[in-house]
Amino acid sequence: MDGKAKGPPASLRSQQIRDHYDQFAWAYQRYWGDHIHHGFFLTGEEDPAQAQEQMLRHCAARAGLHAGMHVADVGCGHGGTASFLAKSYSCRVLGLTISPRQLEVARKLCGDLDGATTFELADAESYVFPNASFDVVWNMESSDHFFDKAAYFRKAAATLKPGGKLMVAAWTGSMRDQLIGDIARVFLFPDLWTTDEHLQHIESAGLQVVSSEQLSSQVARTWDVAAEQVRSSQWLLALLPSQFREFVDGIELMREGYRSGQLTYSVIVATKI
Ligand code: SAH
Repeated sequence: MDGKAKGPPASLRSQQIRDHYDQFAWAYQRYWGDHIHHGFFLTGEEDPAQAQEQMLRHCAARAGLHAGMHVADVGCGHGGTASFLAKSYSCRVLGLTISPRQLEVARKLCGDLDGATTFELADAESYVFPNASFDVVWNMESSDHFFDKAAYFRKAAATLKPGGKLMVAAWTGSMRDQLIGDIARVFLFPDLWTTDEHLQHIESAGLQVVSSEQLSSQVARTWDVAAEQVRSSQWLLALLPSQFREFVDGIELMREGYRSGQLTYSVIVATKI
């Protein structure tokens, strides 16, 4: 990272986030499959795809997901979660993404699900969520990209039915740490929050936290796998734009973040009373 800007992003714009996911949809698909989130490695023997599904099952259990529920998957990526929750839990899922390319990929992936899933192109921060409409609002590693997370959590609270659950899986750490600022800049987060900051703002939004856990040691392997993938495809990376190579440099920041304990991975579930 020598010679490059250090610290938090000074002037990140949502357009850059959209362009990133548009431009690199193919790379995410090639390296991470249908999911753009950490794997949950329980035995270390799982392959990355199994670990990613394990993560979904873990979060679904924490959120008490069951058949017939209506889920808002906010920041839905390529629709991997929507497909999984519709097939394995018989949920109805509305997926929102800021990326037109992801919208296309998600609609194609879920094309055979008979209307159990719908997708919309939307900026979650300006989207008008219907009042008291969802059993679960699901943020799998997406709220980290939001500029006003506190305002978003208030909107999430309003769109939940009474008794509904907000599930947030987030990269957590303190922006006072240089490394966390660097991670935020490389991975296009306006800022990252600690677990406590999440808990405070989620409660201020009127929700009651029912569980909060840090899964850092079970997810860190995700980046060892990513580093192995990079080592075995140097030829391809050399052809990619510098923007992507910087993203690849971010893999080592992530490994350092988990090794040092500055970066944590939090899964928080809160309910609307
Ligand atoms: N939840 C998905 C994708 C995680 S990657 C998965 O687990 O596979 C982050 C996602 O957040 C991307 O889909 C990106 O398009 C989306 N995103 C980022 N900012 C957004 C915003 N303001 N509104 C809607 N989606 C957003």
